[in-house]
Amino acid sequence: MTDPVVTRFAPSPTGFLHIGGARTALFNWLYARGRGGKFLLRIEDTDRARSTPEATAAILQGLSWLGLDHDGEVISQFERADRHAEVALQLLAEGKAYKCFSTQEEIEAFREQARAEGKSTLFRSPWRDADPSTFPDMPYVIRIKAPQDGATVIRDRVQGDVTIRNDQLDDMVLLRSEGTPVYMLAVVVDDHDMGVTHVIRGDDHLNNAARQMMIYDAMGWTVPVWAHIPLIHGPDGKKLSKRHGALGAQEYQAMGYPAAGMRNYLARLGWSHGDDEFFTDAQAQEWFDLDGIGKSPARFDMKKLENLCGQHVAIGDDAALRHEIEAYLVAAGEPALTQGQGDGLERAMYCLKDRARTFPELLEKARFVLAQRPVECDEKALKALDEEARAMLSELTPQLQNASWSRDDLEAVLNGFAEAQGTKFGKLAGPLRAALAGRAVTPSVFDMMLVLGPEETLARLMDAAKPA
Ligand code: GLU
Repeated sequence: MTDPVVTRFAPSPTGFLHIGGARTALFNWLYARGRGGKFLLRIEDTDRARSTPEATAAILQGLSWLGLDHDGEVISQFERADRHAEVALQLLAEGKAYKCFSTQEEIEAFREQARAEGKSTLFRSPWRDADPSTFPDMPYVIRIKAPQDGATVIRDRVQGDVTIRNDQLDDMVLLRSEGTPVYMLAVVVDDHDMGVTHVIRGDDHLNNAARQMMIYDAMGWTVPVWAHIPLIHGPDGKKLSKRHGALGAQEYQAMGYPAAGMRNYLARLGWSHGDDEFFTDAQAQEWFDLDGIGKSPARFDMKKLENLCGQHVAIGDDAALRHEIEAYLVAAGEPALTQGQGDGLERAMYCLKDRARTFPELLEKARFVLAQRPVECDEKALKALDEEARAMLSELTPQLQNASWSRDDLEAVLNGFAEAQGTKFGKLAGPLRAALAGRAVTPSVFDMMLVLGPEETLARLMDAAKPA
């Protein structure tokens, strides 16, 4: 039996959850969830100057919006500093690391001389093999003994084998003179202790992998499967940045994109499964694998995102959509729905959810059910309510009073009325849309009547029939 899969997302809490981070989290989540594995969350908060609790909260919120649930407690890297130091001390005790007393000035001088002589400027510490009896009473750092010949091969599942000559690696510092562990050590110790089997992260970390492997090797720990994924670019092929539009995952929530559509789109951003564009979470979990991750940067395409979002809204569960729309309104700083409006929205959902790519689009269609009497008309709707139209509505209203309010019955009454007027139903639709929704573009007149019910429908028709 193979070991259970354990993945992790390890953001640094220095800002919101950006699109790239959200995609990294999603890939790790999909990989674990599709294999009955675990998806862990570690906050890399060792950089005390740049890490903030607000950023951690924003990241957690972004993940929660995207529905990327993690297993177990959120781990703080900073809180594990003692354990990181313990590993450095173990390597020291085993002779795989050493105390280095070189001062910053000495290191600078070494580099300058190397530059002048045209040699590699990688610092080579004179303390690597020094006799402890020669140790001065001075502050020191602990450095790992990097391999000096041969090569380190990172077997990356996306990039292939990446070979780095060991003479390019220096004896990296593990523990600073004040006893604090460096980031590179913290990552390795945490990944090992958390039992991480697969590290899926941005390819800006590929260089780190070579240095991290030194620590795995020195500790005799199993190296995880690496998968360094290309960064996301904007539509112009340049690295994604603010100038391409929204960067924060939650900005997309506030713009009214459904989380399911966002997941679908982010999954396709750099990963593919044949020609499949639209898929459910269950399919994504079943299909997601490392082989499907492309080697070149994916381009962010708003049109595709909107298109997929529309398809997810269309298949969404009515109650779940209502719930998500209510959360969207909060995120967007819009007024909340009343209980009655929420209930109405849910009842109407069946006729709102096709052809709405975002929640604002859906809410525009939902105007008829959210509006209170007297329904306010926009300009186009007002035009549809001319004198002739109002006269027609006053004539029609009594005829609807006895309708049984089934779709068939309503159709029969309206068609019969149109015929008697010597016109077509189409001619009635404009004034009815204006009367019921105050808009010229709405769901079907029958759907609106069915959702509103007889009392509200008749009241709105009478309101509209009154002389302007
Ligand atoms: N904290 C790093 C970042 O936010 C990720 C480190 C890792 O995944 O190993 O870029």
